[in-house]
Amino acid sequence: MQNTETFIDPTNIMGTGADFNIRGTRCSDCGALQFPATQVCPNCLSLNVEDSALARLGTLYSFSTVYQAPAGWALPYTLGYVDLDDGVRVMGHIKVPKAQLRCGLPVKVSMADVGTNDTIPERCTYVFVPQ
Ligand SMILES: [Zn+2]
Repeated sequence: MQNTETFIDPTNIMGTGADFNIRGTRCSDCGALQFPATQVCPNCLSLNVEDSALARLGTLYSFSTVYQAPAGWALPYTLGYVDLDDGVRVMGHIKVPKAQLRCGLPVKVSMADVGTNDTIPERCTYVFVPQ
């Protein structure tokens, strides 16, 4: 029997519904912005870091399409790095029609289901879509 629950991992998300941002951290001492969120600033080793809502717009830096994955992932899917407008590079699912996929494509963050199976709920997470 298919599990139809939706699981949204709050680790990388700030906000709810369509009004959310990817969670990063900003160092209070040097101002460095990081993703994923960290407890120590990798730039200056300060412990004075706090959650920061990352930019919702960016540019597709690079990508690859995945055809083999553990059970539960909807195949094929595309993973990529996006350079957000605030300067942070984030890896995530890229939900862009194949004909539009190209490095440099302007994208925005969105939310989508990325997989499910009989034992785990739908996995809903941030994705990148065309602007
Ligand atoms: Zn720092």
